[in-house]
Amino acid sequence: MSDRSKQSASVVVEATDVHKSFGTLDVLKGINLTVRKGEVVCLLGPSGSGKSTFLRCINHLETMTSGRIVVDGQLIGYHERGDELHEMSGKELAVQRRDIGMVFQRFNLFAHQDVLTNISQAPILNRGKSRDQAVARAKQLLKMVDLEGREGAYPYQLSGGQQQRVAIARALAMEPKLMLFDEPTSALDPELVGEVLSVMRKLADEGMTMIVVTHEMSFARDVADRVVFMDQGVVVEEGTARDVIDSPQQERTRAFLRRMH
Ligand code: ADP
Ligand code: MG
Repeated sequence: MSDRSKQSASVVVEATDVHKSFGTLDVLKGINLTVRKGEVVCLLGPSGSGKSTFLRCINHLETMTSGRIVVDGQLIGYHERGDELHEMSGKELAVQRRDIGMVFQRFNLFAHQDVLTNISQAPILNRGKSRDQAVARAKQLLKMVDLEGREGAYPYQLSGGQQQRVAIARALAMEPKLMLFDEPTSALDPELVGEVLSVMRKLADEGMTMIVVTHEMSFARDVADRVVFMDQGVVVEEGTARDVIDSPQQERTRAFLRRMH
């Protein structure tokens, strides 16, 4: 998608004044973020700044203290009745989460299932796909993540980079409207990082809407439409990669980037 068509594309994620506390610890202090269809937003920031907590709020793996998050027109996690918000049931949350793919630092594949089952099971159970449809789609996705022919492998037989690519295929099998990545390459040996980033790049090129927490500056520079720098629970600075990474305006951003080099 061209930059111009992204600017006018529909909003996929709208987070408004998101606050989150754990006891007395204020982890998110009013996060606002808009992500449009087809956009890739990279979220940067030091450890402990609240990046994972924010991603987890987007699919309601974490409850918010206040604020609202709307994904594809739907308020996440709550029903609104008048001025009151009521938390959804587990079943309703599961339905919302089907549209949001998430890839974690640790791949979280099902260890006792082969690759094909890892990818095809959820679409059969939760998307009403026939087994044949789900298997055909899983095979396409394996090709897309450069693992054609590895249907029968078990996670322990795969490298970390291969497991992470299966995890991406598994998330995509649910046909999500949004993909969240939380440091997807941080647990990998350095020589395996590139193969995972290249799959993510392909996905971005295909127009997937993505929020990516990463420390991979060259990926952010090349792929992100927008870079958001967070520190201590606030968005410090936001803009194009060129703005934020190459000429940061805020001292906190500069200090972080100096430590990254
Ligand atoms: P990041 O992903 O940017 O490293 P996190 O969102 O993981 O940051 O964490 C932000 C802060 O919230 C940290 O101080 C962390 O210790 C705290 N935190 C995260 N999850 C919990 C939790 N379940 N209970 C208490 N504190 C938490
Ligand atoms: Mg984190």
